[in-house]
Amino acid sequence: MGELLSQLWTPEIQAAFTAIVVMLVVLYVLSIVWVIRDAYLRGTFWYVWGILALVPLIGVIAYCLLRPPLLQIDRDEQELEVALKQRELMKYGECASCGYPVESDYVICPNCHQRLKNLCGACHHALDPAWTVCPFCATPVGAAPRQRRAAAQHTRTQMPQ
Ligand SMILES: [Zn+2]
Ligand SMILES: [Zn+2]
Repeated sequence: MGELLSQLWTPEIQAAFTAIVVMLVVLYVLSIVWVIRDAYLRGTFWYVWGILALVPLIGVIAYCLLRPPLLQIDRDEQELEVALKQRELMKYGECASCGYPVESDYVICPNCHQRLKNLCGACHHALDPAWTVCPFCATPVGAAPRQRRAAAQHTRTQMPQ
């Protein structure tokens, strides 16, 4: 039996066996590196997945099944795209009263004359009604018109004379 084994265990077989073992070890190490790298790129706890990947084969298969579906970069890009689309929608809206398409800097609906935006009293940019400060010149919204109103009242009080 021992003789048969030594007859079968030729240097060629021995070399092939060594090559297979080396390949498996390399594959095992590469799979761990891949799991850690992929988990890191996906923004998950890569060290946890790295420890799991130490379990030969099963660790990698488990990771492939359970890993987050999106890369961190893709996720960031997707969020950016959604934000950009929202901005686009904000830029081109509709008149609340007649539905006519209006742009962000329209102050009055060209179709039904509905007031859409406030005007900055200082720089005369169109301002969203929700804004409390002009983003173009940093004037608090309502401050300049109040001054103007005060000035108007001043002239009115002087008028009767
Ligand atoms: Zn309108
Ligand atoms: Zn302004």
